Amino acid sequence: MQPLKREQYVQKSALSFDRVYIKDMGGHVFSIRGIEMNEIYYNKKITCPVCSTHFKGTKIKKSMLHHIKTDTDLCRYFKDANPYYYDINVCPECGFSFSDSFEKKLSTAEIDKFLKSITAHWKKQDLCGERSFEQAVDSLKMALLCGQVIGLKEINLAGICLRLCWLYREKSMTEEEKRFMKAAVGFYEKAYEMQGLNDEKEMRPELVVYLIGELNFRLGNFKDSVKWFNLAISRYSRDPAVKKQTMNMIKDRWMEIKDAMK
Ligand SMILES: [Zn+2]
Repeated sequence: MQPLKREQYVQKSALSFDRVYIKDMGGHVFSIRGIEMNEIYYNKKITCPVCSTHFKGTKIKKSMLHHIKTDTDLCRYFKDANPYYYDINVCPECGFSFSDSFEKKLSTAEIDKFLKSITAHWKKQDLCGERSFEQAVDSLKMALLCGQVIGLKEINLAGICLRLCWLYREKSMTEEEKRFMKAAVGFYEKAYEMQGLNDEKEMRPELVVYLIGELNFRLGNFKDSVKWFNLAISRYSRDPAVKKQTMNMIKDRWMEIKDAMK
């Protein structure tokens, strides 16, 4: 096999330490000694839906991350950074906190309610740069609060709680992890039973049912876990819209859970 022609160079990173990169002729990085911060982070221009302030938010190029593993409740781990830290945009002026997929058109009454109940009590802070664990938690908690004030859909509130749960898991903060896991289950159940899940941009219903079963299992609510896994399999295993890979994952996990409960 012909050895690849390599170009080796040293770059000064944003954090002022040197990294050596090796690229092949196509510019593809195939060997990296550590990842330079400015290779995975970028700034995105954001406009606040409440006060129209323009600001820049730090985001992560997910394609640059090395996936390590995925937990059975779909929490994904990466070697170089935690992308969940940057899911939420926090307006530095009014505090409104929202994800990139936020689309709700806010009425004047909703904006007014938000400004009076949140902004009026909010201590201005800038969460637009790189985030610590505490800042990432703050951004998600703010998003949860804002979402409840403006009437965000249950499925979106569930997603915020699940991310909080995952952040606490990474730090082995079990009490907090369970607290937000429980909240996520509550929101997912409401979303599934009351709202129907027809929006293509949202999580597929079979995955919601799977997650309710899985999270209940993790919480020790075995009866509920059985109920939701049974529902996932009876309702979706013959549904042509459900990916085979997803259904296999659900069935495999159901086998493991049944074994664990014996
Ligand atoms: Zn704002």
